[in-house]
Amino acid sequence: LEAQLGHAQKMEAVGQLAGGVAHDFNNILTAIIGYGNLLQMKVGGDETLEKYVNQILYSAERAATLTNSLLAFSRKHIIHVREVSLNEIIARAEKLLSRLVPEDIELRVLVGPDCSILADSTQMEQVLMNLVTNARDSMPDGGRLTISTEPAFLDREFVHRQGYGEPGSFVKVTFSDNGVGMDEGIRERIFEPFFTTKETGKGTGLGLAIVYGIVKQHEGYIDVSSQPGRGTTFTIYLPLITATDQPAHSPDSRTLPRGTETLLLAE
Ligand code: ADP
Repeated sequence: LEAQLGHAQKMEAVGQLAGGVAHDFNNILTAIIGYGNLLQMKVGGDETLEKYVNQILYSAERAATLTNSLLAFSRKHIIHVREVSLNEIIARAEKLLSRLVPEDIELRVLVGPDCSILADSTQMEQVLMNLVTNARDSMPDGGRLTISTEPAFLDREFVHRQGYGEPGSFVKVTFSDNGVGMDEGIRERIFEPFFTTKETGKGTGLGLAIVYGIVKQHEGYIDVSSQPGRGTTFTIYLPLITATDQPAHSPDSRTLPRGTETLLLAE
């Protein structure tokens, strides 16, 4: 338990640091891109100068993408949550997901009873995509990835172990692959931004950091279990909207009347 809490605190500290740096960098990049755009308009005609300015802008945009990932990890992103059907999100993403995996990987989607969650569907799609991409990369010789959903009740002990949140009804979404798996040393670090075991150019190490940030911003949990040579299972828990979630009973920003849309900015 202590090790898990230590891990949560470490991630929190890394998130604070990354978020702070990313926030400052975002402001700097806004200036670079803004003045770069002005310059671009002024250099019309001079091909060499145009090339230089375009290169500056291209690099600045890449840096902006990176800082945005860090903001997602540190949960400084503004997310737009509304009441959505999880099965609908999965059904809509399925086509895109199947295009991510080659033919020698079988993608199975087994959804349980439909449920409502408060979520930003674009962010949820990002979670699905990142986890499917990683599973694909872990099965270079093909295999099977199963995504499934089922209701789950998380008790006090579980949420205490995670270090935050309240017990209650959740939906459990699992991603099970039979890929290369990972050992303990790797498993402990996968959610850290920039941690990657992939060749340079292939991985940024931001995929799971983003997933971690998004899940946490949705007040959910993520767990991983893995066996080297056998495969990996990622499990995500997202809080369900239950019948007792009426605004009159709770000032909590999660409990919204049906159909309302809101902005949630964590911390
Ligand atoms: P990236 O994919 O750019 O390396 P991620 O943050 O998405 O960054 O993943 C970090 C690392 O976690 C990967 O480099 C890999 O070592 C490990 N990993 C993630 N998902 C899986 C998986 N399904 N099976 C095995 N290893 C995985």
